[in-house]
Amino acid sequence: MNKKVDFIIVGQGLAGSVLAHVLLKNGKTVHVFDKIEPHSSSMVAAGLYNPITGRKMVKTWNADKLFPLIESFYHEIESLLKCQFLHRVNIYRPFVNMAEQNDWQAKSTDPEFESYVESISLGPSYDCVVNPFGGISLRPSGYVDIPCFLEFTRSYLKELNSITPELFDESLIKVDSGSVEYRGISAYKVVFCTGINLGTLFDFLPLRPVKGEILEISSSLSVDAIINRGVFVLPKIDCKYRVGATYNWKDLSVNMTDKGTSYLKEKFENLVTANYKVVGGKAGIRPTTPDRKPFIGIHPSIPEIGIFNGFGTKGVSLTPYYANQLYRVLEFGEELDSEVNISRFFSLS
Ligand SMILES: Cc1cc2nc3c(=O)[nH]c(=O)nc-3n(C[C@H](O)[C@H](O)[C@H](O)COP(=O)(O)OP(=O)(O)OC[C@H]3O[C@@H](n4cnc5c(N)ncnc54)[C@H](O)[C@@H]3O)c2cc1C
Repeated sequence: MNKKVDFIIVGQGLAGSVLAHVLLKNGKTVHVFDKIEPHSSSMVAAGLYNPITGRKMVKTWNADKLFPLIESFYHEIESLLKCQFLHRVNIYRPFVNMAEQNDWQAKSTDPEFESYVESISLGPSYDCVVNPFGGISLRPSGYVDIPCFLEFTRSYLKELNSITPELFDESLIKVDSGSVEYRGISAYKVVFCTGINLGTLFDFLPLRPVKGEILEISSSLSVDAIINRGVFVLPKIDCKYRVGATYNWKDLSVNMTDKGTSYLKEKFENLVTANYKVVGGKAGIRPTTPDRKPFIGIHPSIPEIGIFNGFGTKGVSLTPYYANQLYRVLEFGEELDSEVNISRFFSLS
């Protein structure tokens, strides 16, 4: 194949797909390589975007920059691809005690938090959910059906003749100053979006892969929100729910385990009193980093090679903002946020 594009993108998971859309939208040409991995993080993820996270219910890192963009970004791609994969659903977090209820009543009028608080209930909002102290509904929140987003993106790239569904062999990249060539395709830059597969070019980066398991259950539970406390309970169609997720740094297989299943069942039973039956489950490995910030930037010695990776547990909310930032870095030479720039690890290379 003889072809010239602006960028070669390696990997069409969430990161590669979002980056491809941002570059195309800005008039750039791309060619994507992806080996299609059914157990990739993106194919397994629940795809939640949630501004207040963790046991201590803190504002997610950089929320004020990331969250205003999320829904408009994915909606724009939905219009382009004529499909729906973003589902706007409130996240309901039951309070664990009166102190937490009081705390959030105060925070809900604090300018720091008020834009993320949809409502506060002072008593139970849902039958069959353990929420005696009420809870908080968060916004903007919901989930991206990532496999659906990837499938429509792949079809779109195929129509543009801009994807090769194959493994990219980095040893075949030829770099000339200011351009790269790979099996007949030349480009200004190659950007690696390969999840847990860092390859040799970026093997100095201290990736911390974390396995996650998600159960699929059917249940008599009837809720119109994502219930989130200890685990998330994500309503799908036909009384089906996804319940997740586990975090395991040691077992990096992509199998469901008895231990993971028991953990999720126990957490679910602490949160929901309705009957349920486990009908399936999926496991994948998140590309997580030691400081929980992405790996973005340009290779320390090969300026034609970049990386857009390390989105850990929050790919849905991080990738739109940072793909736009990376585009401006590549096109106009703007500065990357130092917290995400891989230069913070150059001493390891
Ligand atoms: C159980 C679980 C639950 C999660 N829940 C959420 C959630 O609720 N919200 C959220 O935002 N995030 C969640 N995540 C995290 C989310 O999945 C990631 O942040 C995101 O999907 C990472 O996308 P990625 O494109 O960087 O990596 P990946 O999804 O791993 O994609 C990398 C792609 O690159 C391809 N590839 C790799 N090497 C090559 C090569 N040499 N040649 C060609 N192709 C290659 C792979 O085949 C793959 O398609 C969850 C993850 C898991 C496992």
